Amino acid sequence: MTGVSSTNTRPAGPLWLLAELTYRCPLHCVFCYNPVDYKTNTHELSTAEWKDTMKQARALGAVQLGFSGGEPLLRDDLEELVAYGHELGYYTNLITSGIGLKPARLVALKAAGLDHIQVSFQDATQAANDALSDTKTFAKKLEIASAVKAAGWPMVLNVVLHRLNLDHIDSIIELAVKLGVEYLELANTQYYGWAFKNKAALIPTHEQLKHAEERVAVWREKLGNRMKLLFVVPDYFEKTPKPCMSGWGNVFLSISPDGTALPCQAARMLPGFEFPNVKTSTVEHIWYESDGFTRYRGDAWMKDPCRTCPDKAKDYGGCRCQAYLITGDATSADPVCHKSPDHDKVIAFVDAAQRRDNPNDYLKVQKPEQQALANTTEVPVVWYRSDHNSLHLSKNGT
Ligand code: SF4
Ligand code: SF4
Repeated sequence: MTGVSSTNTRPAGPLWLLAELTYRCPLHCVFCYNPVDYKTNTHELSTAEWKDTMKQARALGAVQLGFSGGEPLLRDDLEELVAYGHELGYYTNLITSGIGLKPARLVALKAAGLDHIQVSFQDATQAANDALSDTKTFAKKLEIASAVKAAGWPMVLNVVLHRLNLDHIDSIIELAVKLGVEYLELANTQYYGWAFKNKAALIPTHEQLKHAEERVAVWREKLGNRMKLLFVVPDYFEKTPKPCMSGWGNVFLSISPDGTALPCQAARMLPGFEFPNVKTSTVEHIWYESDGFTRYRGDAWMKDPCRTCPDKAKDYGGCRCQAYLITGDATSADPVCHKSPDHDKVIAFVDAAQRRDNPNDYLKVQKPEQQALANTTEVPVVWYRSDHNSLHLSKNGT
């Protein structure tokens, strides 16, 4: 995929449509990528509105359709939407915790033409998995993963990695082997949403990462073609940023539960934007004309060091949300970059993580009575993603 240059040629349409069907979710993951204030916006598009959006995006050239959330299985119309996506010619993908995936729904999703399911686990043991999601879901997930495999889909497992589970890398891969997984995505945490809120407890040490990378290399050798292991080093430990979303408004179109259209799921937090909504704008207008999709497209918006950098066509200046979260200015170079004047802030996060002791000490439930303590102590206390915490943090500033 080529980047969009600063000339006025009309860019290609989106390739990826991500339908975030709902922010509702039975789990409470500490690394959740949903907005911290998700509970202040509970409106969801209707079935007809989703279908119309899918049709418009397909007409613009989108070929991949992801259903995520929250937990997309909480929408009763999921099967109907999958069937419609299939009929339109999309490659359809369900991104799920698996909770709610009853046998009858598996049959219905298969009949609807669903191409791909990605099931997430939080860790390899009941205790750790359930602690990280503040639920009792591990046993259920085991059943569901086996049922997905038996139903004939390729088994794709996703485990988000961070300080609290990186040391369990061997057991996580062993679990995947036991489940007959074909693709294991070991996705190091990206620090947005709840993960950014909890970063003090989630950023790993250099030793943890190095050990995990070494173990993944050993397992790759051992497993050969039996399982594909994906492991990407987290941004904060790199010296150059990733080409975030393959460029702003370049290939990716994300639709939030209420119809807000975003160039990536996290972009909603950026100030000074009126992101468009599919209820009031066509997808074509959103993609080609709206400020939300054109402001950081290409490179005309860049300032130094990105403006004059030879790598700007490779990484698009990195991630706008990461730039905003860390520097307070979304037009800054991604501070992960060693050329950024704010790179020392990222190093400070990583150094602080390095100085903390036993990571598992930080998994503490953030109940209301502990909130005052969390605001007054240096000890990182984990905020579970929950309706209560979302409302509390929204009211008191996230
Ligand atoms: S990360 Fe966890 S809490 Fe967030 S949507 Fe996924 S399963 Fe739900
Ligand atoms: S200066 Fe900007 S364009 Fe160059 S490598 Fe860093 S983030 Fe990328």
